Amino acid sequence: MAKQLAFYVDINKCSGCKACQIACKDRSNLPVGVRWRKVFQYEGGEWVDQNGQMIPSSVYTYSVSSACMHCKKPICMDVCPTSAISKRDDGIVLINADMCIGCRYCSWACPYGAPQFNEELNVMTKCDMCQDLVDKGERPACVESCPYRAMDFGPLDEIREKYGTFADPAPLPDPAITEPAVVYKPNKVTKSSRSGDGRLMNLEEL
Ligand code: SF4
Ligand code: SF4
Repeated sequence: MAKQLAFYVDINKCSGCKACQIACKDRSNLPVGVRWRKVFQYEGGEWVDQNGQMIPSSVYTYSVSSACMHCKKPICMDVCPTSAISKRDDGIVLINADMCIGCRYCSWACPYGAPQFNEELNVMTKCDMCQDLVDKGERPACVESCPYRAMDFGPLDEIREKYGTFADPAPLPDPAITEPAVVYKPNKVTKSSRSGDGRLMNLEEL
């Protein structure tokens, strides 16, 4: 049995430049509006008035790069009525386009919004971890593209050994739902999914 593969993202290093998102779109030739990788821009905090001057006392912002998490409990797979979704031995979760009927159940079920409908093909699509590159011993395009070297990729146990186990930066959901194969390194202002603080800044891009 191969080891579950996983993504890692260092929020401290991530500038929110979206090179990972563009590399993914470019490599998989994704149409306008289909984003297998998204970068959430998150912000919160308050400005305070000090003698007529607005001071950013607790204002914060950070970016979270996110794609299919190739979860250990892939709810997308559970809800698919045609069994079009499968999980490889190495944990990569795939959609078989020939079996997909485009019902969108997987996209409604996935708490990460990872499955994306391709209107040209009339099927659901999503990140496949660049399985063809992985099969050649290479790394996914998003990981390679990051100019800040904020991303890494490898077996989940090794990623956790190197970087810890934090997996729920807001605005991502509680990892208990699907047990995502991902680790994030928080920066000093990163909130957890349960904090109830902050808001998304770039909804129109997601
Ligand atoms: S992130 Fe969503 S689409 Fe990907 S494996 Fe998990 S539940 Fe399925
Ligand atoms: S859209 Fe396709 S992959 Fe998703 S649940 Fe429906 S049939 Fe399955």
